[in-house]
Order: sequence, then C-alpha cells, then structure tokens
Amino acid sequence: MSSQIQEHSAESAPPSISVPVHEPRRDAVNSAFLDYYRCPENFADLILSRDLSANRGFFQFGRDAICYGQSSRGSLAKRATDELYDTETDVVADQNTLRLPFNPSEIVANLRYERYVSSCNGGGVRGSILRKSYYLVRPFLPVSVRKHLQRIQLRDWHEIPFPNWPVDLTVERILAKLLVLLLKTGSTDKIPFIWFWPDGSPSCAIMTHDVETLSGRNFCSELMDLDDAYGVKSSFQVIPENRYPVAQSFLDRIRHREFEINVHDLNHDGHLFRNRELFLRRAEQINRYGKAYGALGFRSGALYHNLDWYDALNFSYDMSVASVGHLEAQRGGCSSVMPFFVGDILELPVTTTQDYSLFHVLNQYSTDLWKRQIALIMKNHGMISFIVHPDYVMERRARDIYELLLAHLADLRSEGKVWIARPGEVNQWWRARSQMRLVLQGDQWVIEGPQKDRARIAYAVLEGDSLRYQVQPREHEVPQGEEHPADAAPEPQRDKTAA
Ligand SMILES: [Zn+2]
Repeated sequence: MSSQIQEHSAESAPPSISVPVHEPRRDAVNSAFLDYYRCPENFADLILSRDLSANRGFFQFGRDAICYGQSSRGSLAKRATDELYDTETDVVADQNTLRLPFNPSEIVANLRYERYVSSCNGGGVRGSILRKSYYLVRPFLPVSVRKHLQRIQLRDWHEIPFPNWPVDLTVERILAKLLVLLLKTGSTDKIPFIWFWPDGSPSCAIMTHDVETLSGRNFCSELMDLDDAYGVKSSFQVIPENRYPVAQSFLDRIRHREFEINVHDLNHDGHLFRNRELFLRRAEQINRYGKAYGALGFRSGALYHNLDWYDALNFSYDMSVASVGHLEAQRGGCSSVMPFFVGDILELPVTTTQDYSLFHVLNQYSTDLWKRQIALIMKNHGMISFIVHPDYVMERRARDIYELLLAHLADLRSEGKVWIARPGEVNQWWRARSQMRLVLQGDQWVIEGPQKDRARIAYAVLEGDSLRYQVQPREHEVPQGEEHPADAAPEPQRDKTAA
C-alpha cells in the first residue's frame, strides 16, 4: 500500500447512474477503519460526500488499491482489468472531516466476503463441472495423477488479475490510505491506535496442519517432533468422518504436547457447501464434533466456504478463506492479511500458498515463494499463515523444504520480527484487542480492556508523504519507541509474474 498521496488527475469518465440511497450512519462509514486500527473515534471522522450509485463495480482509490462496490463519482468498471476511475481526487478534506465518494466499510466488506468474485474470477461453469467430477474420483487417485488433473483445472491461474498474486493487501491499503488522508487534513500530526499484535510484535505467524489420510494421521507425532525442534506450536485439523479413525488417544497426544486441535470439514467430500440444507445438516454434526474434541477452530475441506452461512457454525474461529485464492478450488480471496470478524466468528485467512500447491501444482521444491510471501506480509504487519499437510511432507524432499521454512520462521522470531502463535492464541488476542479502547487520562492515552498489559499504543505519523507507525514501549520499560514503516515498497497491484 502506498502511503504516498498520488497527485494525478482523474480521467474524465461518465458519472455512473445514481439513485438516492439512505446515507449510512457515520459509524457505518468509519466502522471498518475503527475495527482495524482501534483508534479513538474522534480521529476517524469519515462521511459520504454524496449519494452512492445503485450498482457496484470496480474503481481505484489511489494508484494501488482496487475497490469493488458503490461509489458516488466516476464510472464503475465491470472488470478489474478495465481502465479504472480513481476516486482519490474526489476525497475532500473539510477541517478534520474526510468527505468520501464511497463507503470504505462497504468496500472492505465486499472484498472480505468476496462479493467481487462473480465479476472477475476464473472459476465459472467449466471450473465447477471439472471440480465436481474431480471430487468424486479424488479419494481414489494417487497424488501423481491428481496433480495433473489439478494443473489442468487451474491452468489459467496466472491470468487472474485480482486479487494480487502472491499476496494481496487491498484491504490494508485502503485503510492505510484513509489514515494518510486523515493525517493530511492537518488537524493532528499523529493518530494513536492500538498496535496489531501483542507486546509490540511487528507481525504474527501461525502454522496449521490439515490431516487428510490415515498415513498423514500416523505421521502427526513425527511432525510434532519436527515443529518442536524449531519451537513452533502448531494446530492439527482433524477430519471427523470417513477418512481415518479418530481415537481419543490420538487427540490426547496432540493436546498433551500443547499443540492445538481443530475440526477439518465433516468428511471432506467437497460437498459441504453444495446447498444450504445439506450445509445446515452437516453443520450440526460438525458442531457436535467440535464440542467432543474441545475444538474452537474450524477449517472446511479444500477451503470451500460461504461466509453468509457461518452463523450455523458454533466455532470461535475459522480458517477456510484464502487471501488470494488463485490456486484453490473455490477462487477469489479476501484480499487481506489480517483477521476479521464474520459475525461472531473470527476469520483467520490463509495468507500463503499451501504446501500441496507449491509442490504439486507449481512444482517448486524451494522456500522462495514462501519467503517472498512472508516478506510482503511482514512489511505490512500482517498475519503469516501456513497450511502444511502431514500427508505431503512425509516424503524426504518435501520435508526438507518444510524444515527450511521452520528454520526461517524461527530466525525471524529470534530477530524479534514475528510472534509465532497457535491459531487459538491469535483468536484470543484479536478478540481481546477488539474489546480494547484508547482513553485519555490527563494528557496521556491509555489502553483499557482485557489483556491490555500485552497491548501497546502506536502512533501513525507522516514522514514526508510516507506513513510510519511508532510503537510505544510499555510504561515501565526504558523508553525506546520502535519505528515501523507502515509499508516500504508495495508490489505493483497487477503483478502477474508467477513465482
Ligand atoms: Zn483438507
């Protein structure tokens, strides 16, 4: 996300058809921004400048953030690849208020809920027919055959223009751009907010293992040994039915070693979200397994999802949405590397390429792509999340690559650059942070709320045109505020180069 305000004129474009709509309340306009930064409300004075269009489409907010939704100015494009109208020049600063030509909370929700997908993804009918037949035969296919079918199914993946491969930061860019514009109103030179991660950690990482088959299940102990060798406590997603017996002793071994257990689908047949009736029936069974396993987290098979149905799941968090879904059976992506709430469920997006796709679709036995994704996410203080299957790292060549990844993560942690946690810990933290508030005590900002002792105050400031975050030390510590660039050099939004 560029923190620079780009000075360039809007291209002349016919205004979109506009019908009067009720102006959302002010808190609806700034709610996504406030939830994200947890800054005091009076710093987030965002209002709509005019009525929004009735229709939705693509447009830009500055040079490097593609938006999808309603707007009150310029044209709305049908495809992300069309020439896009840039709304940034339509933002008007009125003292400390920003008048916006779109509602950022709506735009962010459209991205997180992938409402843009039917407009630009590559799935389509062909994809779904292939997918159905593929899933019917998948359990009987060896990886060597499966990967060829998947390469055919996914062959157009690098032509997908949006979200941005290999990491998409659109939500982060939109919200940071608002922060920059608020600072540029000149009403304040710094905006306090609650830092994203506990103890001032610059970023966060989670390691998760989906257990697909009996041999994968039997490899879990060894995988725990491997993770432990690098001090990484991970989570294991267990399929309750049809794949392998799930003995209590198996779950106990994982838990006693302080690893985490989550539910992975019901039977992983690819049909969980086929229709609502079936989903509701299965959700009840899944909820029962969650209770029996003492699991708070869920992930669907093959990352299929429909966030609009999630209120039927009794889980605290979900991990079924990719940030960039180019290589997933269900394409799209939430265009973000941060957790976000879907009703009461916290979504922890999958922000890196799965091991299976890396080894068997991209045919890469190297950590290059993972390292590139880690660097991009860290630059934006996001959550780095991995899916590595016991089933696919049993073979020596893949296991060696996985060990290199663990070593890299452990190095980053010892350099103080990343907080490596179990998904459940991230869930606890993000929930606590969502309850925290910044309040003034005299002329000092203090944090109130659960786990406030682990939270840090940060200030967003402008250095020239660049956004910087200054993370404050805890009160009893020697004062030495850490300085993080809000982001350094953003990847071009339409970088299509395959890694
Ligand atoms: Zn799976």
